[in-house]
Parts: sequence; C-alpha cells; structure tokens
Amino acid sequence: MGKVNTVLGPIASEDLGITAMHEHIGFGLPGCDLDTQWWKKPEEAFDVTIQKLRRFREHDGKTFVDCTGIGNGRDIEYFQVLSRRTGVNIVAVTGFVAGDSALPYFRNKTVEYLTNLFIHEITVGIDGTSAKAGAVKVGVSREGLSELDQRIYRAAARAAVKTGVPIITHLSTEPELAIDIFESEGLPLNRVLMGHADVGQDADEERDKMIASRGGYVGFDTIGYDKEMENAPYWSRPRQDRVKHFLSFLEKGFLERAVISADANCCALGWPGLKGHSVNYLFEEFIPDLRKAGVAEDVFEQLLVRTPANFLTMQEPSLKANPLSNNDIGCVPIIKS
Ligand SMILES: [Zn+2]
Repeated sequence: MGKVNTVLGPIASEDLGITAMHEHIGFGLPGCDLDTQWWKKPEEAFDVTIQKLRRFREHDGKTFVDCTGIGNGRDIEYFQVLSRRTGVNIVAVTGFVAGDSALPYFRNKTVEYLTNLFIHEITVGIDGTSAKAGAVKVGVSREGLSELDQRIYRAAARAAVKTGVPIITHLSTEPELAIDIFESEGLPLNRVLMGHADVGQDADEERDKMIASRGGYVGFDTIGYDKEMENAPYWSRPRQDRVKHFLSFLEKGFLERAVISADANCCALGWPGLKGHSVNYLFEEFIPDLRKAGVAEDVFEQLLVRTPANFLTMQEPSLKANPLSNNDIGCVPIIKS
C-alpha cells in the first residue's frame, strides 16, 4: 500500500487504522479570535481538545482528518503538539471550506495561483513547516457554488491530479457542476469525497446514487447534528432520519462508497459549537444505532478502516494531467492583485 501525509510526516496507509474522515480540531471564520463571547483561552481550548482526542484513542480511533483548511483555524504546529501528546495521527488539508469562508486575500486569485498554493502545501509544506497536506478541501458557499468556489474546485482538481491526493467537499449540492469541473481536469470521481450528503435540508437519495454509481464517495459526515440536541443548528435533522438515510444507501449496495464522520469541533473557534458533540459520537451513539438496526460487524471495518485508507492513499500522479487545458474562461473577471 501507499502513503498518506500527516502533520508528523507521511505514514503507511495500513497504519491509518480507524479513521474519522471529516472532523475539525477547531473551525472559525477569519477574525473569530476577536469574539468576546465564545473565544476560548489557549489553555482551555487545549484541555478540551486533548480530552476529546484521548477519548477517540480509547475507542481505538487512530487517525483524525482535520478538514479546516486555510484561514479558518488550521494551526499546523498546534496539530503537531496534539498529535504527539495523544498518539492520534492528524491529517491536515489544504484548500478552503468554501469560497465564502475564505480570507478576502484569496478571493481574486487565479486558478493558477490557487493550484500552485495547494501543490506547495501538499508537496513542500504548510505555513513554513515541512508538514504536508493529505487532501484538498473545497466547498459550496451559502449562495450556491459561486464563481470563486468553482475556481477553487478547478484548482483543487489540478492539484489532485498532479500530486495524487484526494478532494473532500463541504456539501454535495450542485453535484453535476462540480463533477463537470473534476472530469474536465481529468480527475476521476473515485478521488472525490462528496461530503455532507446527510445534511437534513439537502438529503437527496437520487443524488447519492448518482455520485456512488460514478465511483465517487458519499459522505454521511455530519453525524450527531441531531434535532434532539440542545441548540441544534439549522442543518441538524432527527437522529433516526439520518440512520434510515444511511441504511438505505447501504442497502443499494454502496457500502464501499460510504464515508462516516461527525464534522465535530474539538473546540469551536469563536462560536459555541454543538454542546456535547464530538468525533466520539460515532462510537458512542451512531455505531450502536446501526448495531441495533442489525448492521454486521465487518461493515464497520470497511467504513472506518478500509475505505478511508483506499481514499486517502496518495495515487501516482496521473499521466492524464494536462496543465495546458485552458478551462479558465469561465473564471473572468479576475482582478490580478
Ligand atoms: Zn467540516
């Protein structure tokens, strides 16, 4: 098997073990450290984060994929300390949660600029360290897949083709447009995890089927945002609705295309997060729900170990890569800064 980049260096894919594919050490919008209500002091944030990662380790969790990306709280040296202290592998990503949460600095950058930035973070290192990104994060803005989002998707596809790392999306809405961008850059859909397919208001079983049939991974990766919880956000849904949605996906024969994760913050940055929610919901609530529904034990090995390893393993850079394919026409006007 191949290798996966973690914040402490590349590791063999077979050493990933139980992997949570879409999580956050802490996500916040740029400027969140100025919030006077919810910003936590470093010692407090460190303590709660360490506790959650240690509990993850007690559940035999071994690898935590932090999907935060550039400018939303990704802190590589902090991740390195957390990884050393807890023994949990942390995979960091390059890219952005979505165009509308990216720093204004990046909003006018060209596809070429963004591609080079992502490739630098995957092959050289992040923030002046030698810690390399293990995947590229892209996402859909609140108003829909914006022109900036599309520029980021295209740059991510080029970086993925050139380096062999996969892409993880925030939201699976407007999938055809996203898939067109990936395909036009020569990136096969089996290198893409279309995330947050389980978000209540966006649930669409036909869409899930289309993605999986074309080889993509479908993320049931906001598990635990249950309507039943105190202060549940608008993207939450009744707990058993999500379980049913997930089981229906497995019943269609798509176990190998399914990814589960909690999208929880160990310590949300400048906002409250969902009280009591953590990556450990997977082991303490969701898997027991599936067991009760009769799901066999070997399914969990596939979901938590084999699929993440298949997906995260860096591929040989594709010969199909075509750096001259000029698909940037849709991305004007771009103000060169
Ligand atoms: Zn997330």
